[in-house]
Amino acid sequence: MTPWHAFSPEETIARLRTMPQLARTAPLPDNETTAWYVILARQFQSILILILIAASILSFFVGDKVDAIAILVIVILNACLGFVQEWKAETALQNLKKMLTPHCRVLRNGVEETIAADALLPGDIVILATGNAVPADLRLSLTTNLQIDESVLTGEAGGVGKQIDALPADSPLSARANMAYMGTSVVNGHAMGIVVATGSATEFGHIAELTRSVKESQTHLGAHLDHLGRQLGVFALCAALCVIGLGVLGGRAVTDMLMTGISLAVAAIPEGLPAVVTITLAMGMATMARKKALLRHLQAAEALGAVSVICTDKTGTLTRNEMTVQKIWLPTGVIDVSGTGYEPVGEFSAQGTVISPQDCPGLIPLLQTAQTCNIAQIECKDGLWHAIGSPTEAALIVVARKAGIEPALPLCIVAEHSFSSDRKCMSMVEQTPTSLISHVKGAPDFILPACTTILHGSTAVPLLPHGLTAIQDAAAAFARQGLRVLALAQKTLPLDSVISQAGSESGLMLLGLVAFMDPPRPEVIHALQDAKSAGIRVIMITGDAPETAMAIAAQIGLDVSRIVLGTALADMSDEDLSLFLREPVLFARTVPQDKFRIVKLLQAQHQLVAMTGDGVNDAPALKQADIGIAMGIRGTDVAKGAADIILLDDNFATIVTAISEGRRQYTNIQKFVQFLYAHSIGEVSAVVLNILFGGPLILLPIQILWINLATDGVTALALSVEKPERNIMTVPPRSLLAPLINRWEMLWLGGLGLYVGIATLLLFNHYLAVSHTLASSVAFTTIVLTAQVLAFNFRHLNGTVATLGWF
Ligand code: ATP
Repeated sequence: MTPWHAFSPEETIARLRTMPQLARTAPLPDNETTAWYVILARQFQSILILILIAASILSFFVGDKVDAIAILVIVILNACLGFVQEWKAETALQNLKKMLTPHCRVLRNGVEETIAADALLPGDIVILATGNAVPADLRLSLTTNLQIDESVLTGEAGGVGKQIDALPADSPLSARANMAYMGTSVVNGHAMGIVVATGSATEFGHIAELTRSVKESQTHLGAHLDHLGRQLGVFALCAALCVIGLGVLGGRAVTDMLMTGISLAVAAIPEGLPAVVTITLAMGMATMARKKALLRHLQAAEALGAVSVICTDKTGTLTRNEMTVQKIWLPTGVIDVSGTGYEPVGEFSAQGTVISPQDCPGLIPLLQTAQTCNIAQIECKDGLWHAIGSPTEAALIVVARKAGIEPALPLCIVAEHSFSSDRKCMSMVEQTPTSLISHVKGAPDFILPACTTILHGSTAVPLLPHGLTAIQDAAAAFARQGLRVLALAQKTLPLDSVISQAGSESGLMLLGLVAFMDPPRPEVIHALQDAKSAGIRVIMITGDAPETAMAIAAQIGLDVSRIVLGTALADMSDEDLSLFLREPVLFARTVPQDKFRIVKLLQAQHQLVAMTGDGVNDAPALKQADIGIAMGIRGTDVAKGAADIILLDDNFATIVTAISEGRRQYTNIQKFVQFLYAHSIGEVSAVVLNILFGGPLILLPIQILWINLATDGVTALALSVEKPERNIMTVPPRSLLAPLINRWEMLWLGGLGLYVGIATLLLFNHYLAVSHTLASSVAFTTIVLTAQVLAFNFRHLNGTVATLGWF
């Protein structure tokens, strides 16, 4: 079969139409879903459960049928409980995974729609933009400066340029410049492409599995618990051997002592702990998702609770990302624009008097450039106006529409040099019957140096140094009011010019400045206070102007004692930057690469860093950060793929809420681990001390098993859903290396355990005078009741183990 890249886009569509069925191919195999029977089987995998089953068989043959059945029932009950919990956790994870399903934009029947990527069919037309992950194999039909990172497929890093012409059929994969392959990502420009293969039929499907999903793997906590479990295991084994040895020496039946020893070991080892922790974290993930923070893997929940620095961008995270043009600077004066949101209704006024835009010299060319150098749209749905694409650009469309300027279709755009946070500007070259016009917009500090003239009224005059200073002052004055400022410029080129990015963006004629209002999110003020009292530092790292950033910082109450510009960062040594990072510092006019360096230096100071990001170039910093946070609404697929957490509402306050939830989960895990530890010591010490003192059998194996399952397990689960401590956000972050139980706590837990053991032993001996059966029942009841009382000790940890339950 001739490969797709050898056909033209039209031939591709015609060929797809003649194909017998345009059905979807099976999606890529999902090897992360765990089937129910695997989860059930896992409940019987533990070596201890196998020992118990062996013990049950042993009892059966020794003739103790009741015991044998009871042990089996307990084992099955235990497995059911474990299964239900794990199944709940698995379902929660699956639901989260569904929320992570990638979406894409398609053109169906001429209407643009957003659909789940796995609903794509061959023949669909997909629209790609910078930052998108390519959702299927596409034969490209339109490209504008398209560059795709194909390193997952070809191993070659960096963007590969794309075009639409047909290629020789024998072109190797890496040379198929008219194809976009699933799993690769757009690093620049935009495009349209026809779906030719989906799911497992794609090139990516042939070589790999999809990596985007909720990952589940061993957590730090898991490692701590394994360690703790091993310690307890050794302790239990020694205790069991002692008990068996002493018992047999004391003349007791060998089978009795074997059973006691085994059940003692089972009781002492919290074999279900790692599972309970996974369940707690998984359920916690579901809670966080309800609070609009999607965790991509379990470790994130644990690390979140220990975050000590949050590095956040400004636009959209601290502010609402709802842009409205409020002021326009022209050489003839400042114009105010009224109206709110994206509704294209408002008036223009100069010095308090409403004016007609058409009568204001220089305003119409500026608004035309604002509208042409633009890839956003606005739409009205159910009476509400929305931005499609960049809010900054949508606001420019709105202000142009307020002046009655509608796009003059069809516009003939012959080149586009896309916006990126590195360049901080963009340009589009329009072809008119007589010339080429390059429309340029971007951050004033990047556009002004490229301007040689300025449009004054209707004539271009040279831009002299003092004129430039006045414009810079005007931009700074806007920024100090918290406004985002863009400069707009134009350049006319002869029709036959060779178009290049440098040529289109130099020797420009300045048209004016536009200032946008993007109000801070009100809830951020409270979230910042919470972060401060929780000992978490917040550092703003923004691409916006320093004055705008400072004004927003003041409005939301963010402490800033020093401001560092991206340009200064380049010349700064790591030592100097590290010193600044110890102060309340703010970074402005940064490029995404700066974020990576800042994260690394903070980590060198032993900080646990959470970093937000949305662009393609933010991915390395998001990966490097302990917690990479991508924006769910404005974030690119690439940023989302690199992050640990996706914020569904792009809101800074959600990060702080998630940290508080992470802290709650960790404390609860600490609570039930400490509880189980103390109570296990209680049981073991009662049995061991009793044997040491030569007493008769204090607890039957069945009783110990019951305590292990019904009493301890269920009580531990109750502790795992405790509400947050009142001081959860007023204590400093914990160190990730801190053990789950420190030495001091071990001592206390040992003490509490011994207390339970001795109390049980004393009561047992007291009632032994009446009868052994009664005494044994009393001992059993004591252990069960003390577990309930002991649990109350662990509802509030407050740093050390509480002592209330001694009595
Ligand atoms: P943050 O980093 O906090 O999200 P930001 O959105 O301002 O802030 P960038 O996206 O790096 O950061 O933008 C930097 C600057 O580039 C802006 O201050 C603005 O002047 C300019 N800019 C933003 N969007 C566009 C655009 N679509 N076209 C041209 N210039 C833009």
